[in-house]
Amino acid sequence: MTQVARQLEPLPLVHRPLFQSRPQAPLVSEFRRHVNDTGRPETFRAISTTKPPSGGMVKVLSEIHVSKQVRGDDTYAPCPICNAHGSQFLHGYLVWCEASEAIYAIGKECADALWEAGLLERAVSEFQQQQREASLEMILLDALPRVPLLLAWLEQHEPAAADTDRLSRAFKRSLSGNLAALEGAAKMGGQLWTAGDDGQLVLTGTMAGSAFCLAPTQAARQLNSAKQYLQGIMFGDDDAVLEYLTRMSLKEKQAASNAVTRSRQMLEKAAEQIRCAWDFTRPENLERINGWGGNQRDRISAIGGGWRVRINVGGKHWYDELKGLVAPAPIPALRKD
Ligand SMILES: [Zn+2]
Repeated sequence: MTQVARQLEPLPLVHRPLFQSRPQAPLVSEFRRHVNDTGRPETFRAISTTKPPSGGMVKVLSEIHVSKQVRGDDTYAPCPICNAHGSQFLHGYLVWCEASEAIYAIGKECADALWEAGLLERAVSEFQQQQREASLEMILLDALPRVPLLLAWLEQHEPAAADTDRLSRAFKRSLSGNLAALEGAAKMGGQLWTAGDDGQLVLTGTMAGSAFCLAPTQAARQLNSAKQYLQGIMFGDDDAVLEYLTRMSLKEKQAASNAVTRSRQMLEKAAEQIRCAWDFTRPENLERINGWGGNQRDRISAIGGGWRVRINVGGKHWYDELKGLVAPAPIPALRKD
């Protein structure tokens, strides 16, 4: 590799024993800003460029990504372990060594061969674990204070879910006679084909909410399961969530994150089923369907602007009240915009 052979302008190597204990987050942020601005980890004010000690405690504080463009002179950053004056790496780690009370920017590949076996590897995997936990916390800090909004949405849509499921069961039972053809149309995305006078099939329209004619809905069950998940992670406002997070184990955080994700998926599923029931039972949609069916006795029709549905099949008919059915409102997001 040519960049390994290329030598940098030799800077005097410096040891800055500034950190008896692990440096705090603000210093790491400052380092990252410096690297973003200059592409030169080796010129950070608190960095040591001498060779780090080969033993003792090592902690990875950050990954380093050097932009060649920002660096600008076609060199890479030097690595104090393997190539203190050389052009060595773009991807590395900021590490703290307890033995020398110093921080170093080292290349990613500088592992076992150059350092005590497994030392860097252990520090890296510990760092990655911390990163995962930190990003999990970020997600939860956004999502958990919004759980009450999800629960409010859920409770607001319970009557609609009950109507959706009841009508779905009644409707599936009555899918005989001419209505049975609706199932076939639904499988084609709701396309309503009719044979013309010349025997050719003509597309006469598309029914809305056609999924309603397929599998029976289980919107209420989705909402019930989601409710159990959500009630288990109702901690309160931002402050209360922060307070909980400091006491939660990694496992509990993962469980909370799963509960948030799964409950929201369930709400989405319920909303989709409610949406289909709503679209399907709109008076104009039922008109279109009955028009497609031609002059038949088996019909499903809207009464009172869609608040009741009348189903006629096989010479019998019954009504279903849809007082709770609404077009579902958007589900609250899991993070603020
Ligand atoms: Zn190296």
